[in-house]
Amino acid sequence: MCGACYSECNAREVNPDFVGPHALAKAYRMVADSRNTGAETRLEKYNQGTNGVWGCTRCFYCNTVCPMGVAPLEQITKIKQEILAAENLPDSRPIRHRKVLVELVKQGGWLDERLFALQVVGDYFRDLQGLLSIGSLGLRMLVKGKFPLSFEPSDGTTELRSPLNRCNNKLETRGKFLLFYLQHQECLPDRTSTMFCGRV
Ligand code: SF4
Repeated sequence: MCGACYSECNAREVNPDFVGPHALAKAYRMVADSRNTGAETRLEKYNQGTNGVWGCTRCFYCNTVCPMGVAPLEQITKIKQEILAAENLPDSRPIRHRKVLVELVKQGGWLDERLFALQVVGDYFRDLQGLLSIGSLGLRMLVKGKFPLSFEPSDGTTELRSPLNRCNNKLETRGKFLLFYLQHQECLPDRTSTMFCGRV
């Protein structure tokens, strides 16, 4: 590897602890190798904080600068998919972020941001530091009258829940579909959810 992706990585500019795209692209080869028996231990490492895959901001620049078409971002995404599919990895904020996003949208059609913050950042009231970090923001919003005191489920909740369920338990897939659906729902044909879930 020439290291062009590493030297140009935007995430590394602001987070020197991020291991970088070149190492993660190579790491995926190890994770995908069926002869490798330590895949879970590797995934656990790449799942830690923002040192591993969650440090990538998905700016796409590593793919652009790679002269050999390695597409490091694609390999990082595949590791994320492996992490989200693994059942025995310890919980982490990025994993909770995706799970809670999907579950809350299934419940209410869109996000109840109060619950989202409490469950993702506050880890269901278990993370005191996380709770304190969102507490001051909540207070400021309250003072300025911007804190949502109630939550109204969307009229389209049932419609949205059904395609999410069709994507089964593939979290990354459901997350992708959800974003796609939310961005394009005005102009999508009815069968879009089936077609999309079948492809990714
Ligand atoms: S997509 Fe991720 S790994 Fe690639 S340059 Fe951007 S931040 Fe770095």
